Amino acid sequence: MKKTDNQMLIIFGASGDLTARKLIPALFALFQDKDLPENYVILGTSRSDLSDDDFRNRVALESAYMENEDQEKLRTFSEKIFYQSIDGYDSNYNDLKERINKLNTSFATDGNYIFYLSTPPSVYKTISQRLSEADLSNQSEGWRRLIVEKPFGYDLKTAQTLNKDLLEFFEEDQIYRIDHYLGKETVQNLLVTRFSNSVFEPLWNRNYIQHIEVTNAESLGVEKRGGYYDKSGALRDMFQNHLLQVVSLVAMEPPVKATSVEIRNEKVKVLKAMRIMNDEKTLFENTMRGQYRPSEIEGQKVKGYREEDGVDPESLTETFAAIKFYIDNWRWKGVPFYVRTAKRMPTKVTEVVIHFKSTPHSLFVGADKDNKLIIRIHPDEGIMMKFGVKVPGQGFIVEEANMDFYYSDIAINGVMNAYERLLLDAMQGDATLYARGDEVEAAWRFVDPILNYWQGTKAPMYGYAAGVWGPEHSDDLIEGNYFWRNPGPNLADDPGYCVLC
Ligand code: NDP
Repeated sequence: MKKTDNQMLIIFGASGDLTARKLIPALFALFQDKDLPENYVILGTSRSDLSDDDFRNRVALESAYMENEDQEKLRTFSEKIFYQSIDGYDSNYNDLKERINKLNTSFATDGNYIFYLSTPPSVYKTISQRLSEADLSNQSEGWRRLIVEKPFGYDLKTAQTLNKDLLEFFEEDQIYRIDHYLGKETVQNLLVTRFSNSVFEPLWNRNYIQHIEVTNAESLGVEKRGGYYDKSGALRDMFQNHLLQVVSLVAMEPPVKATSVEIRNEKVKVLKAMRIMNDEKTLFENTMRGQYRPSEIEGQKVKGYREEDGVDPESLTETFAAIKFYIDNWRWKGVPFYVRTAKRMPTKVTEVVIHFKSTPHSLFVGADKDNKLIIRIHPDEGIMMKFGVKVPGQGFIVEEANMDFYYSDIAINGVMNAYERLLLDAMQGDATLYARGDEVEAAWRFVDPILNYWQGTKAPMYGYAAGVWGPEHSDDLIEGNYFWRNPGPNLADDPGYCVLC
């Protein structure tokens, strides 16, 4: 097990939703699992005027997210939680620095600090600048790290500016750009499936793979996030970050070592090899956007996107995005990748489907189906291979059968959730599961022309009834005699099987 140094976590945006809903519960889970170092302090900051006790009550002792936790342990954990009110835009951080110094001395955190930026992104630059001016990014007396929440930029230009701004005050190896998708066990398992099994890797290329499909479907609409979502859309919210991270893990070359530098070097090569679509014809033919319309699901009326709270009634923000693209390198030349993400689909599911090529010469009836490897990220996490077997009886009639593995079968208790894993990694200085600056920019470089095309007037916006698998013609994006796999919540459900939940 890696060693975790004594340290202090300073959260900017501590009175916000993310801190109470994800960060503090994750830290408490690490505390319960004895993963926190012996000397550990959490210092929350934001503009709200709160005492240490107010903050402890808000995020721990009286938090709705902690109701079912062991209250005795929660009290012990809370003793190391403190609060300091500051405005991120304050002209200096003298008071904050003084508080950090005092806590560092009292609790012997050895001058090791992580600053977690969980404010609106507009404050990120000023916070990092003020930290640097207060000498808090200087690593001469302990290490200093900066975790940056998503979104990392709004487009290529803003991402480049944010990278440049942060790099003025912190070194690249001090910056941890969070993508909570990478913290998921099943996403990390993509690497293990590929690089610890010799059966897959020889087939993992243009010679044997027909195409690759990634689906991320949400059954819910935008809920209370209408205001935020309307300025973002499916492409920015899910595709540019989480889904392109998944693609890079599926498509990367084997790294020479399992280190953060080597793994991220290979991931960024994939992102840089994605063929950028620049002309309108290519963008029209390879991208599709849509918006959910009012509908009725299981007898319940469901609002359309434009009727949701916080959404412009004439909004042209996409809630469905499907992109077909190619990766121009030796391994993937000519293999289409299809990635879609959407809200208000029939079920909540994320999976990768590797479609292998059909046999070159079909001997048997029904043997023209492609072998598929389905890697289920959520829910019913697991892996399934679909292959042909003989139907018992006379002749050689072939039927598709499943060979599967379910994570639930190994019944491991205490699997870390994404924030626990990512926080612990940052505490231990392991940036493998964080996005590097060049990765983020390469992803935006691919996404930017699509965003520009969609912002113009020529890209069609298709409607789809809330509760169906997207616009009517979304299968048209897929080449040849193939369709999107429209899966149910259970890994073994076949396309077309559809449970509304
Ligand atoms: P909230 O709006 O709930 O909280 C924002 C926080 O920032 C509050 O604590 C606010 O506190 C503080 N803040 C705002 N302006 C300033 C300022 N000038 N100086 C200091 N503090 C400031 O947002 P969330 O907690 O939901 O999100 C925080 C970040 O995390 C955002 O970047 C978001 O994109 C990202 N994120 C959130 C997710 C979530 O599930 N909530 C998921 C993924 C990413 P106060 O008003 O007291 O200053």
